[in-house]
Parts: sequence; C-alpha cells; structure tokens
Amino acid sequence: MDINLNGKHPVIIAGAGPVGCTLGLYLAKNNIPIVLLEAEKNLPEDLRASTWHPPTLDMLDELDITDELISSGLKVPNYQYRDRKTGQYADFDLAILGNETRHHYRLQAEQFRLTRIICEKLNKMPNAEVRFGHAVSDVYQEETSVKLQVDSDDSQYQISGSIVFGGDGANSIIRRKASIDFEGFTYPDKFLVASTSYPLENHFDNLAWVNYVADPDEWCVLLRCNNLWRCLFPTQPEDTEDKLLSDEYIQERLHFLAKIDGDFDIGHRTLYNVHQRVAKTYRIGRILLGGDAAHVNNPLGGMGMNGGIHDAINLGEKLLMISKNEANDKVLDLYDRQRRIICERFVQKQTIENKKLLEEKDPYAQQKAQEKYNKTASNPELCKQFLIRTSMIDSVRESYKIN
Ligand SMILES: Cc1cc2nc3c(=O)[nH]c(=O)nc-3n(C[C@H](O)[C@H](O)[C@H](O)COP(=O)(O)OP(=O)(O)OC[C@H]3O[C@@H](n4cnc5c(N)ncnc54)[C@H](O)[C@@H]3O)c2cc1C
Repeated sequence: MDINLNGKHPVIIAGAGPVGCTLGLYLAKNNIPIVLLEAEKNLPEDLRASTWHPPTLDMLDELDITDELISSGLKVPNYQYRDRKTGQYADFDLAILGNETRHHYRLQAEQFRLTRIICEKLNKMPNAEVRFGHAVSDVYQEETSVKLQVDSDDSQYQISGSIVFGGDGANSIIRRKASIDFEGFTYPDKFLVASTSYPLENHFDNLAWVNYVADPDEWCVLLRCNNLWRCLFPTQPEDTEDKLLSDEYIQERLHFLAKIDGDFDIGHRTLYNVHQRVAKTYRIGRILLGGDAAHVNNPLGGMGMNGGIHDAINLGEKLLMISKNEANDKVLDLYDRQRRIICERFVQKQTIENKKLLEEKDPYAQQKAQEKYNKTASNPELCKQFLIRTSMIDSVRESYKIN
C-alpha cells in the first residue's frame, strides 16, 4: 500500500486527548501536515490521569514540552506502598533511576495540562489545524486515501486523509466502524475518585505525594495534585450511583482514612467503570489506533495514558520514516506488533496484578505482600529493577525489541 504523507492529504487525528495531541505535535514538528478533530467544543478537563512516568517525560522533552508540564504540576521524588492498619510503608526513591532516565521522578499533573499546552502550540503551526466541536461519525478506506464523515454544529462534511489515527478514547468510533474487536473484560465494581484540600499528610507518618494504601477492609490510592489530595476508593457493585456519589458516603470513606472532627471539604467526585481490554489489531490499512481507543486498563500504577503516549511516539517515528522514504507501510504493522504485544504482556498483566495485590482481603497475605515491598525498597538492586519495571522504562525498551 502506498502511503503518501507529503501529498495533498493530511494525517487525520480523531480525538484531542493526550495521545492524539502528542501524535499531532510530533508529526507537525516534523513537517507532516495534520488535522486534529475533537468532538467536544472545548478541551475536556475531566480529572483522570495525573501520574507521568519518567520515560514519558523523556519523550515529551524531545517535543520541548516537559518543562512547561513540570511547571504546572508537582515533582514526586518517591512513592509508597503502605499498610493502613499497621502504618508500615515501603518507600521507593526514584533517584536510583538516575542513569536510566533524564527525569528520575514522577510528575503529578492533570492530563488536561498537556492537551492545553499542545493545542496552543498546534494553533500556531502552519501545517496543523485543530477543529473543536467536530465529531467523526464514520470512516471509509479508499484506494489512495481514507475518508471520514464529520459532524459539527454548522455542517456535516467529509474529509480525506493519507491515514487516520483513532485517538478517540475507549468508545472509539474509529475502532467500532473498522469492526476491530476490543477483547477483555469489565470489572463489576467501579472506582470512586474524590478530592479534598484537607492536609491528609498530617494523619500519616511521612506520607509521600503518591501512595498505594492496602487494607483488608478498604484499600485506597492517595495522589497529590497541586493543592488537592485525590483519593481513589473501590466500591461495591450492588451500591447505586446516587449512594456512591453522595456526601454522606464520601465523608464516610474519608473519615475511615483519617478521623477528623467535622466534615472534609470535597472538591470533585467521579465514578469510573474499570476495564481491561486490548484491540485485536492497532492497524487495518490506513486506519491506526492508539491510546484508550486501542487499550484500557485499571488506573492502578498510572499506565493508561503513559502507555498511550508511548504509542503516539512509536507511531510518529514510523510515520516520519515513511515520509522520508526510509520505510514502506509495513512499518505500520510493526507499530501494531510492538505496541499491542507490549500492552498485553506488560501493562495488562501489571495493572491486573496491582489491583489484586491492593484488594487482598486476607490479612496474612497482605502482610506478606507488604514485607516484600519493604524488602524490595530497602535493597538497591531489587529496588532499581522494580522501578525500571513499574516506571515503564522496561516496557518502552522491550517494545522496540519486538520485530
Ligand atoms: C480515575 C482515572 C485515573 C487515571 N489515572 C491515570 C494516570 O495517573 N496515569 C495514566 O497513565 N493513565 C491514567 N488513567 C487513564 C487515562 O486517563 C487514559 O488512558 C487517557 O485519558 C487516554 O488518553 P487518550 O488520548 O487515548 O483518550 P482520551 O483522553 O479519552 O481522549 C479521547 C478524546 O477523543 C475525543 N473524541 C471521542 N470521540 C470522538 C469522535 N467521534 N470524534 C472526535 N473526537 C472524539 C474525546 O472528546 C477526547 O477528547 C486514568 C483513568 C482514570 C479513569
């Protein structure tokens, strides 16, 4: 198949989430024209991803945006696995990754910080066009191009591209119209995220800015984002949405965590479905998928968006090779293999394991897991291996070895 990235058709990207935006900036910076179509009228500011891992910061640095992103967030030099009942904690210091990455820390910053920075840049670039309020509703492949049906308030129109990238999230219309199966499962329980400005750090010994807190009665994740604590709790499948989002229920969860007199102030609250799914393929002809359109996983470990950005950079590099006539379209099958196989082998496996470990109900098994974390954190060699894996450095390296 002849893919001409320097001809009359731009690369069309559906979805201005972190993944679509990253691919858009990568291509536009490398002189490949793009049109980015976003269904929403404004950049979505939903509170989902907030954790940025070192290799993602290294990659975004190549696009000159890491410093700006860092200035909008909080650098997290260490993170912890804690046992809420005993107060024991294993502290993982990312400084040990000094020789492996230019950014040996996690960053805590809401995902919309990235999309804002990138859209501002794209708006100033002559070879990039961002259209808000333009939703893709269908996609057809033709001999030399791909055609998309687009709906906006003013019009319905068609646009042709050399290829289309589905960065349109978990319910991707591109994936569905291309009839690509999204295999896996959905957990029966939802996750509740609530934020508070209450200083939870005063209630725990030496609390880090990122914490996975095990407890046979109720585990949670505590993440700091600027001046708020974001608390993620499991829920019971039989409870109604009204109950789970009520003040009373959230106050109860927060008081279980830290007993204070009076109420916590509650910022936002959201319930999320939790899935583990991977698309059967990330490529059919001129249609490519990445990010949540291609894979979804539970958020424990912060790997969904990070893995999606790794997809975008991997694909961007391969499209650049095609545009320079250094590769033909077969390299896009390599993108599919490298990113899909690593997702199945690593991200899915790791996040499923993270959930199992946190929700362990047997106090003895949980104590054993905590002891293992303590031992790993206090042994430099084990600690480094653990952080290379959980910071996704390994998954990026391993993906490039797949051929
Ligand atoms: C509670 C929670 C916490 C999380 N924390 C982390 C974390 O810390 N770290 C991490 O790596 N991941 C995390 N994730 C996962 C992360 O949020 C997603 O992996 C990430 O948003 C995926 O980015 P994306 O660009 O692929 O898709 P999205 O962010 O979903 O963006 C898709 C975009 O496409 C647009 N769109 C949809 N349909 C169309 C259409 N038909 N036409 C045009 N545009 C369309 C949407 O409006 C949206 O802007 C978390 C998720 C949850 C729920």
